[in-house]
Amino acid sequence: MTPRRKRLLIILAVFLLLGVPADYWFLRESGEPKSTFTLDIEELRKLADAVPGARIAEIRAEHVAGFEFPGIAVVAGDSWSFTKMPVYAYQLVFEDGTTALIDTGMDEKTTKGEGGVFFDGEAFGRVTAAMEKATFIVVTHEHYDHLGGVAVHPKLDALAGNVVRLTREQLSDPSKRKPLVFTEAQVGKLQTLSYERVVPIAPGVVVIRAAGHTPGMQMVYVRRADGEEFLFVSDVSWHEDNWKRVRERARLVTQVFLGEDRDAVLAQLAAIKKLAEANPNLHVVPGHDGVVMERLFGAKLLTSKFQP
Ligand SMILES: [Zn+2]
Repeated sequence: MTPRRKRLLIILAVFLLLGVPADYWFLRESGEPKSTFTLDIEELRKLADAVPGARIAEIRAEHVAGFEFPGIAVVAGDSWSFTKMPVYAYQLVFEDGTTALIDTGMDEKTTKGEGGVFFDGEAFGRVTAAMEKATFIVVTHEHYDHLGGVAVHPKLDALAGNVVRLTREQLSDPSKRKPLVFTEAQVGKLQTLSYERVVPIAPGVVVIRAAGHTPGMQMVYVRRADGEEFLFVSDVSWHEDNWKRVRERARLVTQVFLGEDRDAVLAQLAAIKKLAEANPNLHVVPGHDGVVMERLFGAKLLTSKFQP
C-alpha cells in the first residue's frame, strides 16, 4: 500500500468514527487566513519597467491536458459534482519576435498515469517546439502538470542551464515533482533562478515567491506593452472561486494529498482578492479554470495556440 493510500484509509476510518465533525473538518471548512501576504501593484509595475528591452506584445496559451475533480475538492464545501481542471502552458511573445514560456503542461504518459481525462497531442507538440525557441522558460511550481514539459523534453540537457530557470525551492524536494524524474546533474543545471521575494526576469515579467501550495510556488506578474496587466496565480487558486471567496481546497486535498501550507495559501488568496478589487483591470489567471480562460480568449486578452 502506498503511503498516500494508507493516509487516505486512515482519514476514511476517522470519518467513520467521528462522523459529521470529521466531514466538516476535512471536506467543508475552509478556514480564515491568520498571516498576511504582500502583493503591491506599484512595486510590481516598477519592477516590470526596470528591465530594458523589447516588451511583450502578446500572450498565447495552449490547452494541453485536463483533469476532472469533485467540486468539493477544488473549493471546500462545494458540491460533489465533477468540475473541469484544464491544464495550460503560456507563451509570451515579445515585440522583437522572441518568445518565452510560463509553465509547460505535461505529456500523454503523465496525463494518463495521473488520471487525466483529456490530452491534446498537437497542443503539447507545439509547446515542445516552442520550448526550443524560447529565450527563457519558468514554471509556477514543481508539480508534474506545470513542469512536465520540461522533464520529458528531448533536448532537456541543452535547455537546462541555459533556457529553463527553476528555483532551488522548485528542485529541493523530489517527492513534490513525482512522477517526474531528473538526474542529479540535471538538477544542478536547472537551478538558475534565485531571489528573495520578488524579482523581474524580463521586460514586463516579475516572479513573486509564494511558497504554500508547494515550496517552489511562485506567481508571475506580466505587463504587456499596451499596459494590460496579468497575474498568473497558478495553483494558489485552482479556480477563480478560490480567490474570489478566499476559500481553500478541502483539507482532505491540502493535508492528505498535497501537504500544503494551508495558512500561507489562504493569506495569498486574500492578498489576490485585495489586489484585484483595488485594480479591476488586472487579469487574474487561476491555475485550472477553463471559464476564466474562455473569457480571456473571448476578450482577445489571450490568444489560443502558440506562435510556431
Ligand atoms: Zn496544477
